[in-house]
Amino acid sequence: MTREVLALAMDAGGTMTDTFMVDRDGSFVIGKAPTTPWDESEGFIESSLDALAQWDLDERAAFSQFEVAVYAGTTMLNTLLTRTGRRIGLITTRGFEDMLVMEQGRQVWSGYSYADRLHAATHVHNSPLVPRRHVRGVSERTDMFGKIPIPLYEHDARRIAGEVLDQDLQGLAICFLHSYANPANERRMAEICREAMAARGLDLPLYLSSQIRPVIRENQRVNATTIEAYAADPVRRQLHNVENSAVARGFRKQMTTMLSYGGLANIRHPRLHETLISGPIGGMLGAHYIARILDTPNVLAVDMGGTSYDFGLITNGTFNLNNEPEIARFRLALPSIELDSIRGGAGLYLSVDPITNRIIMGPEGAGANPGPVCFDRGNRQPTITDCLAINGYLNKDNFLGGKVKLNLPAARQELETQIAAKVGLDVHEAADGIIKLWLQTAMDATRRAIQVRGGDVADYVIMGYGGAGPLVLAGVSEGQPFKGVVTFPFAAAFSAFGCTTTDYSHRYTRSSLFSIASAADTAAKEALAAGLTRLWNELEAEAHESFVSEGMDLAKVEYRRVAFVRYGGQLDEVEVPFDRAWQGTPADIDHLLERFEDLYTKMFAKAAKYPKAGYAIFQVALVASIETRKPEFPLLAEQGPTPPAAAKKGQREVYLDGRWQSAGIYDMELLEPGNVIPGLAVLEHPATTLLVPGTRQARVDRRKFIWLDNLQRGEPST
Ligand code: AMP
Ligand code: MG
Repeated sequence: MTREVLALAMDAGGTMTDTFMVDRDGSFVIGKAPTTPWDESEGFIESSLDALAQWDLDERAAFSQFEVAVYAGTTMLNTLLTRTGRRIGLITTRGFEDMLVMEQGRQVWSGYSYADRLHAATHVHNSPLVPRRHVRGVSERTDMFGKIPIPLYEHDARRIAGEVLDQDLQGLAICFLHSYANPANERRMAEICREAMAARGLDLPLYLSSQIRPVIRENQRVNATTIEAYAADPVRRQLHNVENSAVARGFRKQMTTMLSYGGLANIRHPRLHETLISGPIGGMLGAHYIARILDTPNVLAVDMGGTSYDFGLITNGTFNLNNEPEIARFRLALPSIELDSIRGGAGLYLSVDPITNRIIMGPEGAGANPGPVCFDRGNRQPTITDCLAINGYLNKDNFLGGKVKLNLPAARQELETQIAAKVGLDVHEAADGIIKLWLQTAMDATRRAIQVRGGDVADYVIMGYGGAGPLVLAGVSEGQPFKGVVTFPFAAAFSAFGCTTTDYSHRYTRSSLFSIASAADTAAKEALAAGLTRLWNELEAEAHESFVSEGMDLAKVEYRRVAFVRYGGQLDEVEVPFDRAWQGTPADIDHLLERFEDLYTKMFAKAAKYPKAGYAIFQVALVASIETRKPEFPLLAEQGPTPPAAAKKGQREVYLDGRWQSAGIYDMELLEPGNVIPGLAVLEHPATTLLVPGTRQARVDRRKFIWLDNLQRGEPST
């Protein structure tokens, strides 16, 4: 029978665009190509062809079969970081015009190092997405209960619409105080803007905070609205390019992308800022999926790529959802899977500080273009990848399966003159030191991630992925009592893999103003239940509309209701999923509050329970999802410890711990379940490389996951 492909997932990182394809049996294949920021569809096609070639599939046949295609990119984040978005204006409530330049206190310090936090003199404000001269205030006021004590002053509104529109802008954001409680004034302002545009023959997109993110707290709301206005368009253009190039090859569905809280959304999704950090989220979802397969509750997931180093935790089988994350120095009311990211990828530039003579890594990197010196594409500033290349970690004829030939003499020469000579070391010794420094930085960051959350390294399995993840896995876990150290033959496209492990889903949120006493009577519970039913029904209608417009089958949609509950008077809330069918009865309210106290006492302590204060619900959410086909990992038969002869590629000298040592070289894809490869060895894949130091062994399990056992600790124990 011919192969039927079902899902295509793509993660366009700062350096590489990775593909993961799944067929009807749950088998999969990966592909890789350099990211092409000028037109991401080029990288998309290159990368998918790379995967298709391995399955010997015709491109048209494959594209016409895909049921789901996910594309997660980095355009939005880069647009924000480099401040290269749209020229937009902001109309807000009079008196709040300086909101963007003042910023919320916490946001001002976001992204600052400890040293910079100590020295307030070194500290500068975020440069606002909307310059102050493009911000205008109009007289109006909606209160927190949704009442309108001051109507929109229409003459004022008209004049201001005119002023803003005469500034040659590309989009307009409108964000009034408390518009989440009543959008009437914002909507009227939008109408006035439309009239003013019509009079001027203009047609700018309008972004209303009550549509983009109708939640309490104006700072987070204005951030979401301006980011949507500023950065969503360039992303949408890229996503449509990608979809068009897929459609031109026979793709019959619509393209989807990854939301920062997990779940797929159509690229026509009106709130694209929700995909701000999509790629790394895929990795966390993938790690979560595998954690369930391995039945291991605690995982530290580390993704080492060419550009960044991302890591996140799964504890007790769940990842943390951060409801107000700080991304690119913006505090957002955007639920996202919690993860940390540092500029620590293998592409980081190296230099020597002329005053202190210390080696400096980054913060900039070479990306895929021009790439490291060894790519021979014009860049002469050495990178960490150049160190890895000259010290024998990387196979010069196997980079991206040999598509990029590494020029070792060029890398050696630049490292020699720009780094080694200046610090007075032999070039390989200098490269060795740099690799150690790089690993140490990554190790410190990851260990801290567990410790600041009160965890114990010994309870966690560390999973390493990304092109360079398997290269650093041994180093990052060295001397740490991890429960297990594991990587995967598909590590190089792991985040793309993760995108295929999640359902097609949307999450809708609404602010609310419910509170209830602990000894409430039936009437009070009925009133609360009715209020919740009304909001959830509204959200369900919204979900329906969007699923229909995306051409999805409504019969397959499943709904999950979520309430954000807190004790009366508290500032923070707990996300409580309602885990049975909602009937809107007083018994449902009892159950919801029980679930809340259950979670609350798990997160804090039994003694922290405080029902006397009553309960408040200031936000509800609805998650609507459709299940997708997931990759499968059947248990294969063990083939014994000795790898097949074809897997052994020979020996290579690797410079480790101050000397050249001979390493066994293996083809990762030809290893069989049960195989054990003692260190020192290098396991090569077309897009990634696993270093097995002398103190470790690589063990292939029955799902072909690769464990790095620590021989000094007598692993594996079972
Ligand atoms: P990523 O950004 O996740 O694609 O990771 C890219 C990094 O993977 C590169 O900078 C290399 O350091 C590393 N890498 C290791 N082995 C290979 C390989 N065979 N081909 C390409 N990249 C590799
Ligand atoms: Mg990557």
